[in-house]
Amino acid sequence: MPEFKIVHDRPNCIGCGACAAVSPDFWEMSPTDGKSDLKGSVHKKEGDQTVEEELKIQDPQYKPNKEAADSCPVNVIHLFDSTGKKII
Ligand code: SF4
Repeated sequence: MPEFKIVHDRPNCIGCGACAAVSPDFWEMSPTDGKSDLKGSVHKKEGDQTVEEELKIQDPQYKPNKEAADSCPVNVIHLFDSTGKKII
C-alpha cells in the first residue's frame, strides 16, 4: 500500500483555519498560538519552537490531507510520495 509523508511548515502557518475546516480528522487549531497542528505528528524542534510537523500516512488518508494542502493559502502543507518526491 502506498505511503505518503505530510510535512507542515508550522512557523509559516498564518492560522487561517482552512486545513482544520476541510480535514478535521487530521488538523486542529492550537489554542496556544492560533496556528494549526497536524494531529499525531512528530514535532521537529529548534529550542522551544516546533519548526516542522511530520506524519506518515497510508493511501486512504491521502485525499483529506491533499484537500487540506490544496486549501492552504500560503502553501505550508506539503505531501511527499514513498520515493520522497514532492507532490505539493
Ligand atoms: S490552511 Fe495553511 S495557513 Fe491555514 S491554518 Fe492550515 S496550515 Fe495554517
